[in-house]
Amino acid sequence: MLSQRIPRENSKCKAALHLENLADFRADCHCHSILSDGSETPKNLIFLTKKLGFQGLSITDHDTVAAYEEAIPIAKECDLLLLPGIELSCHFENHSVHILGYAFDLQHPSLLAFCKRHEERRRERNRAILQKLAHHGMTVLESDLAFAAHIVGRPHIAQAMIKKGYVHSIQEAFHQWIGEGKPCYAPGDRPTAEETIAIIHEAGGLAVLAHPHLIQDDAFIERLLQLPFDGLEAYYCRFPAPENEKWLKIAEAKNLIPTGGSDFHGIVKPNISLGCSFTPAKSFTKLWEHYARHT
Ligand code: AMP
Ligand code: FE
Ligand code: FE
Ligand code: ZN
Repeated sequence: MLSQRIPRENSKCKAALHLENLADFRADCHCHSILSDGSETPKNLIFLTKKLGFQGLSITDHDTVAAYEEAIPIAKECDLLLLPGIELSCHFENHSVHILGYAFDLQHPSLLAFCKRHEERRRERNRAILQKLAHHGMTVLESDLAFAAHIVGRPHIAQAMIKKGYVHSIQEAFHQWIGEGKPCYAPGDRPTAEETIAIIHEAGGLAVLAHPHLIQDDAFIERLLQLPFDGLEAYYCRFPAPENEKWLKIAEAKNLIPTGGSDFHGIVKPNISLGCSFTPAKSFTKLWEHYARHT
C-alpha cells in the first residue's frame, strides 16, 4: 500500500496566470487511477494527457489522494498543470452523491483522516457485500480483492465475480447484484454531503457536485445545491451537448464554477476516453488561482 506522504511542493508555475489567452487550453479534471477503480497508473494518466495535447489534469480517485505521490514529480517533468483532486462518496437524503474536491492542501490532516475513515468504511461495506453475495451462492473472498492497489471498490468486486464465472461483465454485476438498490448492495456508513463539503473547505479546497447529469431528479438537485458548493461538473461527455448546456445555465445562475472531465477509468469503463470532456481555461484559471492563493 502506498503511503499518504505527498511532497509539499507541487507543480505551480506562472503559465497558469495566462490561461485565459489560450483558446485551446484543456484540462481533464475527472479521472481515476489504479489507486482507486481505474486501470492506469498515475504516470500513464499524465503521459496520456500530454499525448492528447492537454495542458492540465486533476486525478480524482475515489476517497484517496494516494496517486499524487507518484504524479507530482512526473507532472513537473512533463510541464503539466496538475491540480489536486479527489472524488468523495457521501449521501444526501440517504441517496448516494459524489462530490469532487479541488485545489486543496494534499497534506491537510483533516482531509487525510477523512480518507482513512473512508478506507475503514469501505472495508466494512465490502464485507457486507461479500456476505450478501455468499448468501446468493457466489463466494468472493477478501483475498480475491487483493489485486486492488489501494482503494477497494465495487468494480473490483465485479471483476472478481467475472473471474469466478458468476457474471460475464462488470455491467452485469452492477445491474444484477451490486448496483444501488440491487440484492447484494450495501451502502456502508457514508458521511453526509454537508460533512464532506466542510472537510474540503477545511483543507483549503473547492467543492464541486460531480456528474449532476446522472442524478435525474431536479428537485433533489435543487435541494442539494443549497449546500455551500463552489462548482458544478457541467461538462460530462456521457451525455449529449444539450445536457451540458442545461448544467452550464444552472452553474451560471447559481454562481458556481462550471468544471468538466471525462470520468476516465481505463479498461474498467472501455467506452469512456480520457479527455472526452474537459475544463476550459476560464474555469481552470479559477481553480488554479484558488490553489495558488489558499494552499
Ligand atoms: P464504490 O465507490 O465502491 O461504491 O463503487 C462505485 C463506482 O462503481 C463508481 O464510481 C463507478 O466507477 C462504478 N459503477 C457504478 N455503477 C456502475 C455500473 N452500472 N457499471 C459499471 N460501473 C459502475
Ligand atoms: Fe469509479
Ligand atoms: Fe462519480
Ligand atoms: Zn468518477
